[in-house]
Amino acid sequence: MGKEIRHPAPALDWESRAFWEGCGRGELLLQRCGACGALQHRPRALCVSCLSPEMGWERASGRGTVHSFTVTHQNQAPRFREALPYVLAWVELAEGPRLLCNVVGCEPDAVRIGLPVVVDFQPAEGQIAVPRFRPA
Ligand SMILES: [Zn+2]
Repeated sequence: MGKEIRHPAPALDWESRAFWEGCGRGELLLQRCGACGALQHRPRALCVSCLSPEMGWERASGRGTVHSFTVTHQNQAPRFREALPYVLAWVELAEGPRLLCNVVGCEPDAVRIGLPVVVDFQPAEGQIAVPRFRPA
């Protein structure tokens, strides 16, 4: 198992700020549309199902499964090369939306499609953290 990636602080914007600040509190937040009830990720100003601007936030369970993944063996960028090989996965949350995140806490060979995972947060700079997942 390589070292963990030390992610740079995410770039916050007015659509994503609440999501990242939630991660900083240890809460994985999803947007729920006040008009049609759809859940979505990534954060946007409008509901992608009905285009309503009535978007609210709610806390997700943090549980999901690996939908798809890759194992990266070559990346010479600082912060990433020490972590090789590492896993980048689409994780499908129990609530439905998918997040693109690292899977940590196990050997890359242990990751499989359908693997149950649970969210974990790596502190970044400021009051922000970066979500990643571990085997549940
Ligand atoms: Zn909607």
